[in-house]
Amino acid sequence: MIRLADEAGVEVGNVYEVDASRRSSTLNAYVNGLGSSKRVVIYDNSINQLSGAELSALIAHELSHVESNDVYRGLAFAILVIPLGVLFVQVATTALAGRRRDDPEGPAIIPALALTISLATMVLSVPGNVLSREIEAHADRSAMELTSDPDGLIGLQVRLAKSNLADPDPPGVYQYLFGTHPTAIQRISTAEAVKDQGKRQ
Ligand SMILES: [Zn+2]
Repeated sequence: MIRLADEAGVEVGNVYEVDASRRSSTLNAYVNGLGSSKRVVIYDNSINQLSGAELSALIAHELSHVESNDVYRGLAFAILVIPLGVLFVQVATTALAGRRRDDPEGPAIIPALALTISLATMVLSVPGNVLSREIEAHADRSAMELTSDPDGLIGLQVRLAKSNLADPDPPGVYQYLFGTHPTAIQRISTAEAVKDQGKRQ
């Protein structure tokens, strides 16, 4: 782990292992915190169930999020779109409640508010998910550069798809609207392409 971090040029103070196996069997790892409180968190399930190559792929993926400051990119996106959402909710709620001649200050505003908040969340999550998929695909590519082992990533994707019970190839529209990561099939085919490229060189 520390060796991979060194190669990625990421300073890692501490590695945290979260004891999640008593609560769930999910394989997971994530990055959180900002600045010096930044940390890579790995579920103990991942450490216990993955092969060495798969675990390296997982850690390399998380480290590349750290290296590319993806937490800041996500935050910047939120800072940009949240005011837009709030403005939309305010204008649309007033317009809706006004049309029904309700007292726009009274409790009758609540259904209109619930509707506009749901709408804003749905609409704004689409560009958020496009950005997220882009970031995740980039982290996969950097991870393979770091480990030089596309097979590790392929093995990891197969395990993740099995353990998280996600559809490895969901319908296109569903993936476009709700997918935060490329699908398992897309991630595996990217890794296959990297593998082929390596063979040809
Ligand atoms: Zn990721």
